[in-house]
Amino acid sequence: MHIVNTIADFRQYQSRKLAAPSSLAFVPTMGALHEGHLNLVRQARELAQQVVVSIFVNPTQFGPVEDYELYPRPLSQDVALLDREGVDLLFLPSVPELYPPGFRTYVTVEEMSERLCGHFRPGHFRGVATVVLKLLHIVQPDLAFFGQKDAQQCIIIRRMVEDLNLNVRIVIAPTVREPDGLAMSSRNRYLSGEERRAATVLFQSLQEAQREVTSGERDAERILQQVRERVAREPLARLQYAEIVSSQDLSEVRKVEGEALLLLAVFVGSTRLIDNTILQVERP
Ligand code: AMP
Repeated sequence: MHIVNTIADFRQYQSRKLAAPSSLAFVPTMGALHEGHLNLVRQARELAQQVVVSIFVNPTQFGPVEDYELYPRPLSQDVALLDREGVDLLFLPSVPELYPPGFRTYVTVEEMSERLCGHFRPGHFRGVATVVLKLLHIVQPDLAFFGQKDAQQCIIIRRMVEDLNLNVRIVIAPTVREPDGLAMSSRNRYLSGEERRAATVLFQSLQEAQREVTSGERDAERILQQVRERVAREPLARLQYAEIVSSQDLSEVRKVEGEALLLLAVFVGSTRLIDNTILQVERP
């Protein structure tokens, strides 16, 4: 696996690729890799001849009191994992490489970026959209892979790609979970033993909501009330939000018909976890 740290070196790699055309898949990450990330890499491997992964803890998507400094950076472990997966190139830029002095240009996907997580993390999706756009411009992939775990991020990125006519196919891979249902996340390592046990409340609430839909409930507010009560029964958990929205454009849904996206953000201790599921109304 090649490792490059600068945009100039990446472009040199690109020019070699142009000389011998092949499909290129890209998996952007912030590192501290787990099976959720590696599953994206494996899907990328299956669909393209070359796989590029980036690791970049993007400062512009963290709020001033969030965990940017604390965010885990187990680099040598990550390099070994990616090498084992047969990744062709790891792009590992520094912060000044992507945000040099004088940087002034940001991308905002309006409205969608202010809802749900965006409401509680002002500026987060502006940072995400900006760095993803920059990385897509640098890497120029045919395919780019994102995880359903970050459902709002996926919808915002799809919107940006369409709005800005980017020539890339976005592939969304399903959420990879621990055996007890907790969605894998680099932030799970912040949890103490007791908190780790309590964190299963997210998946359990999502499953309960799906069971209600299966047994005929269609009223979004009633489903959400059950979710709030389920989370409230877990003493170590505090719900930040639970909402049911359109899985296409995040618009509000009052009645679940066909499918709808249920999203949760929950603090377990001081760790903020998110999860989501697509509620499906079973068709006869
Ligand atoms: P991150 O390193 O957290 O920025 O995540 C990089 C990519 O991996 C994003 O597209 C995430 O949605 C995806 N991802 C993170 N955790 C999971 C998971 N448990 N299952 C599937 N994809 C994931």
